[in-house]
Order: sequence, then structure tokens, then C-alpha cells
Amino acid sequence: MSGIHIDDVSRQFGDFTALEEVQLQVREGEFFSLLGPSGCGKTTLLNLIAGFLDPTRGRIMIGGKDVTGLPPYRRGLGIVFQDYALFPHLSVFDNVAYGLRIRKQPKKEIKRRVEEMLALVQLSSMADRRPHQLSGGQRQRVAIARALAIEPSVLLLDEPLSNLDAKLRKAMQTELRTIQRRTGVTTVLVTHDQEEALSLSDRIGILGHGRLQQVGTPLEVYRRPANRFVADFIGQVNLIQTAVAAERSTGRNRHAAIDYEIAAGVPLLLETTGSAEGSGLYMIRPERIKIALTAGNSGEANRAPGVISHVGYAGDQVRLHVQLAGKGELQVVASDPLFPVLPSAGDRCELYWDAEDVIALPPEGV
Ligand code: ATP
Repeated sequence: MSGIHIDDVSRQFGDFTALEEVQLQVREGEFFSLLGPSGCGKTTLLNLIAGFLDPTRGRIMIGGKDVTGLPPYRRGLGIVFQDYALFPHLSVFDNVAYGLRIRKQPKKEIKRRVEEMLALVQLSSMADRRPHQLSGGQRQRVAIARALAIEPSVLLLDEPLSNLDAKLRKAMQTELRTIQRRTGVTTVLVTHDQEEALSLSDRIGILGHGRLQQVGTPLEVYRRPANRFVADFIGQVNLIQTAVAAERSTGRNRHAAIDYEIAAGVPLLLETTGSAEGSGLYMIRPERIKIALTAGNSGEANRAPGVISHVGYAGDQVRLHVQLAGKGELQVVASDPLFPVLPSAGDRCELYWDAEDVIALPPEGV
């Protein structure tokens, strides 16, 4: 049993509340990411799990045992920091062996375990090198091997890949996930990189303003964000605030139709399968919007004529801004093969999408 239970935890720094009433269960063997913007409380929560900080209120359980108040070294954790924190004067072998020596393991067992860990992170041939003789990615792999050598019940990763360049970072992400699957260690990753969290995690906890805003699988938090904060933070989003919550049932598949006045006399008729229950806030992801390079008519549900105002070519995809008749604007992401010739700013188009892709969001502050 090595799950983590964060039970109604709050943390104050003087008058400032960095974390408020956090309730979270990280399951045994799970790869869990804590994601959120700078200053939202991610590191504070990780430090509370690690034991570098104590909660002002609440308790923390690891493997069913209350560890609140226990020092870090008695929690059975492996920790990897952003700056690796390797011992510069020790070889790769000795860095990985460090925790085992502190725990007074037999020499033979230390050798076996270190060799096993170096093989896991593919550094067997570099056991005698010092950290300064390694690349950033190799150093990070030593840090992971060192953290795993003691067979921790939980692995904590604090932005471990943020010092690496984009390409190496991607490669290390895949490697990290492979190592985690192979060892089955319960893992908590702190990151502000949404793509990293989405691609690596079994589940993600999104923190905002010191509160856990949503916990879910990558698919859940992306497709069904719990509120505006999550919708806005993860990925690109078109948010549509209806001026008057003029919802009416169309009687078709329990769809609600919403007239959204984007300009005098030009309503955008949204049809959705959900209801924003009075908040009048809806979202559509840019990649869910389809585009036809022909002038369209307004008035039909989930269709809108417009004029392209910006075209951003990104190789695999094309990002467009479309000015709707009047003042509204929608962002559209289309895949590259859709356009034999790239459209230009000023071209007329028609946007359309499915009712299932109009997601109702609850009122602010929920
Ligand atoms: P980042 O991504 O920038 O590292 P974070 O989400 O990890 O941010 P934390 O480091 O957990 O954020 O900090 C959360 C909030 O608590 C911030 O507003 C920070 O200024 C505050 N804070 C953190 N540590 C202390 C401290 N020792 N004393 C006072 N305030 C603190």
C-alpha cells in the first residue's frame, strides 16, 4: 500500500493562505501530476507530502500511515528536484549508492542495486563519471536512479525536466513514464507544463489560487473542464458568455439552444447537450470547429459566417482567428492537409461544429 491521502490540508504562510482545504487521494502505482500556473501552490503541496513543510491544518497519509509531522527521511520517499541536486564530487555510481549507504545496506547488495538502477536509466557505461562530465539529460537520469535506488514507496518529482531543451525534454518524458511503468512506483509530478501533464499522467490535479480546481484523467480535464479556470488553463479555448441566458429547449436530444447576440441583429445560435444553469458560459475547443472556405448564412444553430483575420501556420496544423459578423471572434485549429492552399486574412469562411462540442461551464467561483 503506497497511495497518498491528503486529508483536508491547508497551509498558511503568515496571513497568506497558500493552500486551502485540499482533499486528494493519489492511488497506489499511479502517475499523478500536480498542474497549475506559477504561484498556485504546487511546490507547497509537494513539500507537504515530502515533509519539508508541515500543514497548518489537516493530515497526510502515505501507505495508510499518518506521516504528518514525520521528517522527510522517515517517509520512504524518492525525490527528484529541478536542479538534480547531485553531489558534484561523487561519481555516478556513488551518487546512486548514497541513500543505500546511509541505510547501511551490505556492500554486495549496494553494488547489485546500483547496477540495476543504472541499467534502468541506461547509464551503465557511465558509472565512473562525475556529474560535470554528463549532459543535462544524463544528470537527470542519475537523479532518477538515485531516487529509485532506495526502493521508495513514493517518487516525488519537482519540475524535473524544466532545465532541459525541448527535444531532450520530450525524450526524457517518454523515458520517465517507461521507468515508472516498469517499477510501478506511485509518482507525483509537479509541473506547469500542461502538455507534459496531459501526456504523462494517469490523472491530473489542477491547482489554482491555492485550491484544487479539478482532479481527473487527462481526457476528463481537457474535454470536460470543471470550471472556467480549468478550461482556460488547459489548452486553447473559445469562451462564449451569453449576455442574456436565453436558454430554450429545442426538444431535440435534450439540446438547449442559446441565442448569443454577437452584434446587433446577428445572433449566434448555440446548440448544446448541456446546460450552464444560469451562468451562460460555454466553451468550444478550437480544434472542434470546422471551417469551410465559402461565405455562409447566419441563423442556423452552431454555424457562423465570418472573415479570417489571422492565419498562423505551424506545420502540422493551421491556427486561424475568425471575426464573426460583428464583434465576436473564434479561434480555429485545423490540420494542415485540410488546405491545398493556405487561406489569407480577409478571406470569407463559414464555421460549424457539433452540439456535443459546446460545453456548458458552471458559474464563476464554483
Ligand atoms: P511555481 O510554479 O512558480 O514554482 P508554485 O505553484 O509551486 O509556483 P508555491 O511555491 O507552492 O507555488 O507557492 C504558492 C504561494 O505561496 C506563492 O504565492 C508563494 O509566494 C507563497 N509562498 C511559498 N512559500 C512561501 C514562504 N516560505 N513564505 C511566504 N509565502 C510563501
